[in-house]
Amino acid sequence: MNITFPDGSVKEFDKGTSGLEIAKSISHRLAKEALGIKVNYDIWDLHRPIHEDSFISILTWEDKGGKMVFWHSSAHLMAEAIEAVFPGTKFGIGPPIDNGFYYDIDTGEQEITQADLIQLENKMRELLAEKSQYIREDISKKEAVAYFTEKNDEYKQELIEELDDGEITLYKHGNFVDLCKGPHLPNTSYIKAVKLFAIAGAYWRGDEKRKQLTRIYGITFPKQKLLDEYLLMLEEAKKRDHRKLGRELEIFMISDKVGSGLPIWLPNGVIIREKLIEYLKKEQKQRGYVQVIAPIIGKKELYITSGHYEKYGSDSFQPIKTPSEGEEYMLKPMNCPHHCEIYKNKPHSYRELPLKMAEFGTVYRYEQSGELNGLVRARGFTQDDAHIFCTPDQLKEEFLDVVDIIEILFRKLGFEEFSAQISLRDPNNKEKYIGTDEAWEKSELAIIEAVAEKELNAVTEIGEAAFYGPKLDFMVKDALGRQWQLGTVQVDYNLPERFDLTYIGEDNQKHRPVMIHRAPFGSMERFIGLLIEHSGGDFPLWLAPRQVIILPISDKYINYAKKIWKSLDNNEIRTSIDDSNEKIGRKIRDAELGKVPYMLIVGEKEEAEGSVSVRKRKSGDLGQVKLDEFINSISKELN
Ligand SMILES: [Zn+2]
Ligand SMILES: [Zn+2]
Repeated sequence: MNITFPDGSVKEFDKGTSGLEIAKSISHRLAKEALGIKVNYDIWDLHRPIHEDSFISILTWEDKGGKMVFWHSSAHLMAEAIEAVFPGTKFGIGPPIDNGFYYDIDTGEQEITQADLIQLENKMRELLAEKSQYIREDISKKEAVAYFTEKNDEYKQELIEELDDGEITLYKHGNFVDLCKGPHLPNTSYIKAVKLFAIAGAYWRGDEKRKQLTRIYGITFPKQKLLDEYLLMLEEAKKRDHRKLGRELEIFMISDKVGSGLPIWLPNGVIIREKLIEYLKKEQKQRGYVQVIAPIIGKKELYITSGHYEKYGSDSFQPIKTPSEGEEYMLKPMNCPHHCEIYKNKPHSYRELPLKMAEFGTVYRYEQSGELNGLVRARGFTQDDAHIFCTPDQLKEEFLDVVDIIEILFRKLGFEEFSAQISLRDPNNKEKYIGTDEAWEKSELAIIEAVAEKELNAVTEIGEAAFYGPKLDFMVKDALGRQWQLGTVQVDYNLPERFDLTYIGEDNQKHRPVMIHRAPFGSMERFIGLLIEHSGGDFPLWLAPRQVIILPISDKYINYAKKIWKSLDNNEIRTSIDDSNEKIGRKIRDAELGKVPYMLIVGEKEEAEGSVSVRKRKSGDLGQVKLDEFINSISKELN
């Protein structure tokens, strides 16, 4: 059979060759690091024989898929430990998550507390040393029901009921058997470091009306060193939590009375937000974008036309009713339907395309209260949204332009490491998607070529496209090495169809434009949340809410401080004065805590010489300079 590798090369192997054997044929090292194998669109166990021509890639710890295999296997290992320490436990589900895994369990009368986690960790260490193999086994529905009935586990029984006979598999390792699709590691000894974190309550199947189970979270690594680094990172992340810093630096607040999930921007936050918007607007203007502003509500019919009502309606904020006439309005979940109406406001010729409509549009989406997380996950947020209406031939150029903006933004904000994911349709399931083959091929190629031309670090996911078009998502790594999903660029064949958008082509005939949705930051809220955690509150000078603080040594020099303030303010440098009665040492400490980039200390000597003593945050004392000199150098730094 022919095996195609990610670089496009093809090698022949005997039918029945496993992923591990393929990895070995490449290098000993790869075989050692391999955790799973992607076969066409699915991830498989390394030991599972491959019988047909396939596209494959070997997954290691560096791949998200590799980590998923690792953590899923770790969830099984934890379950084995739980069963050993708390016999009779019933098991719900135990999936891998972004950072580790969990298992929802029902321990019946036995109570598990935080203190038991240590014992479970120790048990896991004991068990992983046994090097038990994860063994996959096909099983009939009848046998599966019989097994879990015997075990008295009603949760697994319920899960089996929803599966079709012939697609049910078990995974066994050591003393634990689970109803599971896999994939898993070859054996438990791959897991070298274990940490169990937290116990939480979780309703069975997320349904508040059903039983509350116990959820145990954990994380594992293939090396102790990686766990140590992770724990250090968590400690640092706690200090940088944007909810904590957002409160301390007075960037935003959330009021229960106003409503959860509805961030309120405080003056310092507004400065950061407006500076970012100003910067992006400038970039967009140079690229021919125009700004529009649409209301934050729209008639229910608008969202019925766009399809958003069908998709989000019942899970969304419910319609607002007018006092008379029986009209219904909805808070807008997306800006696109409004922009389609703006496009329709007048006829368009091909000469006007691309038409790039931008709006910092605030949208409202209902999120469950348990999902809310400060600025990062909110119910109301402002997208840095734009819709590009263009001809199919303009797609590639527009993609290049959008990728360009995103790159410039990320670099400007100090994110050096970012990557992209290209999501294409599944060519074996074309009926799932709208739009012609020709259109899809054209737009997918446009994205692939733009990414290649820009030399972006990108992965391609087949079958991950939306039903209405392929897309490109951006991820950035923050200062702590955490991945954040940010901006997205999405091709759309659906809305132009639903809104019957047209342009007159060169041939004088009506044509359908293609629509691109794009939001480089994603939303201002989420992005600033990330920026707070990335910078730890030490924003780049151009974004810092307060760039300079003047610290008079005593009341005697407040008038001089005011004079300096005036000069700086005239030069548009954001400055404040600490005119409290505190000693200078205390004033410096407060300014440090407030993360103000520059402190100007003024006393008798400074006033006499028309100078300031400069302290730069994190660099310390820069000495005494003339005020003009300081203004020159900070202005230079800002430009
Ligand atoms: Zn499993
Ligand atoms: Zn849109």
